[in-house]
Amino acid sequence: MKRVLSGIQPSGQLTLGNYIGAMQNFVKLQETEECFFMVVDLHAITVPQEPAALREQTESVTALFIAAGIDPAKSSTFVQSHVRAHSELGWLFTTLAYMGELERMTQFKDKSTGKDSVGAGLFVYPTLMAADILLYNADLVPVGDDQKQHLELTRDLAHRFNSRFGDFFKVPEPYIPKVGARIMSLDDASKKMSKSNPNPGSFIALLDSPDVIRKKLSRATTDSGREVKYDPANKPEVSNLMTIYSHCAGLSLDAIEAQYDGQGYGAFKKDLAEAVVSVIEPLQARYNEIRSSGAIHDILKQGAERASVVADETLAKTKELMGFLAPK
Ligand code: ATP
Ligand code: MG
Repeated sequence: MKRVLSGIQPSGQLTLGNYIGAMQNFVKLQETEECFFMVVDLHAITVPQEPAALREQTESVTALFIAAGIDPAKSSTFVQSHVRAHSELGWLFTTLAYMGELERMTQFKDKSTGKDSVGAGLFVYPTLMAADILLYNADLVPVGDDQKQHLELTRDLAHRFNSRFGDFFKVPEPYIPKVGARIMSLDDASKKMSKSNPNPGSFIALLDSPDVIRKKLSRATTDSGREVKYDPANKPEVSNLMTIYSHCAGLSLDAIEAQYDGQGYGAFKKDLAEAVVSVIEPLQARYNEIRSSGAIHDILKQGAERASVVADETLAKTKELMGFLAPK
């Protein structure tokens, strides 16, 4: 059995991109592997968060994990800040990372470009992510394509630690879907769909009402042609919508092309919206049940207890290897 670790930030409403790129794999992997899934609130504060909204989003993301099919009895489901070892190992790894390698992170460039003031946390965030993963000695990390570079850094830091202080950390592998690893924005297919995008028209939130979903998809950017054809280089907008359709309706890209041959974008977009709604409606029903059940706090408490057992042991051993004097 492999160990699996991943997380999602409570930095806004979860999107269809998070669902297709990450959560669907969480649900699949928990059937055969030992899984740890967390709501990474310490990551979310690398950009300013309003305190009440952060609290609400943290509960909301947890409920969406469960609504999407994560079973807390199988997978340890917890909030990152509830397991203190994350912050502490994060600092230790910050001291192992080089400025140059952090400067090369494209997410930092994307999130800091054009901003007047950029938090130092946004810059060092990949070292905290490395700590998150290595605390559990994870074998596999299911993420979208945008996290590949951070995973590479995690692997480098694990190697660096092992060669300086002795072989200890397992070097983790990314687990990225073949199709759907990078769902693009609805208004600009050169950018990935992101929950923190200030334009809500750019993403489908998992909690959007069916009518909002229909409206957003009918307004989604296409091109001046009329052919429903999968060609990411020349038709990035239509190819992105086809990827979403393929995931939601369980149809191959070829089948979609054949179905809309000669029909133009109108019929395609209408059916696409219904396919998305058919995935999201039952998910929302489960979400509402979980929110009103009041079970979230108990789930998170148990998840944090299970995670802490593993994380505390790794942290203690790391500190010993690095030469910290243990308290007597
Ligand atoms: P933010 O804009 O705040 O960074 P986000 O939408 O990028 O939010 P994260 O919490 O950073 O979401 O990422 C959670 C998981 O979802 C990660 O595994 C990430 O790779 C994946 N993911 C994020 N956006 C997409 C996307 N557009 N397509 C596929 N996977 C995605
Ligand atoms: Mg992100």
